Amino acid sequence: MRGNPESHEFIGFNSLPAVLAQLSAAPGQWTPIAGGTELMVAHAAGRLNAPRLINLWGLPELDFIRVTDNSISIGGGVTFANIRRHAAIAEDFPLLSKAASWIGSVANQSRATIAGNIVNGSPAADAPPALLAYDAEIELISEHGTRRIPYADFHLGYKRSVLQPDELVLALHLPRRFLNHRQYLRKVGTRKAMAITKVALAATATIKENLITEIRLAAASVANRPARLCATEAVLFGQPLNAATKQAASKALLAEVSPIDDIRSTAEYRKQVAANLLDEFLDQLAQEGSAA
Ligand SMILES: Cc1cc2nc3c(=O)[nH]c(=O)nc-3n(C[C@H](O)[C@H](O)[C@H](O)COP(=O)(O)OP(=O)(O)OC[C@H]3O[C@@H](n4cnc5c(N)ncnc54)[C@H](O)[C@@H]3O)c2cc1C
Repeated sequence: MRGNPESHEFIGFNSLPAVLAQLSAAPGQWTPIAGGTELMVAHAAGRLNAPRLINLWGLPELDFIRVTDNSISIGGGVTFANIRRHAAIAEDFPLLSKAASWIGSVANQSRATIAGNIVNGSPAADAPPALLAYDAEIELISEHGTRRIPYADFHLGYKRSVLQPDELVLALHLPRRFLNHRQYLRKVGTRKAMAITKVALAATATIKENLITEIRLAAASVANRPARLCATEAVLFGQPLNAATKQAASKALLAEVSPIDDIRSTAEYRKQVAANLLDEFLDQLAQEGSAA
């Protein structure tokens, strides 16, 4: 049943400090709303359990992309349309650009924000695997100040995170050191567009004289949260890229992932596809290694 707009209070301020003061005065009572592409869908379905909404859309303090020599910082309120169009992000972080182009339709991308994608906490969300493969940091802000942590430590479980009720996502910070990495992102869904991920894998790695010298793997829809695959990475790190290593990595990945059966797919299918994607990435890495 559709939600009733009259059962929600909606307020807004034109500055971030005013929003933070409101969140701090009544922690947990106000639900931030940015693009609304998650929350308004929940409202339309009559399952928006948020009687008090506080607007973030249009706050200039959350809407910035800052490029320095060492990093690119993306404000929590930046839309995927603006991420997709940004030349420096496309050059340094092509996986994130690609993920941005997958988020719903073009219309959706004009409202959907990066913080909304992360805080919503879906294990199937498109941006998190790329952010994990790039070792992003997330910066949180409250009235009492900011804290910056590895994004890999943000999600605690299904739709659970370290975000406190008086905090907002201020920014994502991406270190600019992946240009010489082999980069991979593949999403498997029902269709090419407007499809929720069945399985996705993002990866960055370097290879030198056939040894894997750096590797980061992250996946969607294989756990109760966006997942960095640290155990599989550990099996690959420092190893020669040969059939035995590939086999060991596949075994490690199958042990590390714990997908679920749902209406889109089965756990067994997801496991197999995740292993196939890893195999595909390692084949590409091997080709690059032999060409180097
Ligand atoms: C038709 C359609 C297609 C979609 N397709 C995809 C897809 O292909 N891939 C995909 O990943 N997603 C998809 N989505 C989901 C959605 O568009 C994204 O998750 C989007 O990025 C959410 O951002 P938002 O600003 O709209 O979030 P909102 O709906 O405004 O908020 C979502 C959550 O984030 C919180 N929040 C928002 N901003 C902040 C902040 N700065 N700090 C703290 N908390 C915050 C809110 O309180 C809420 O809990 C789709 C949605 C629709 C409606």
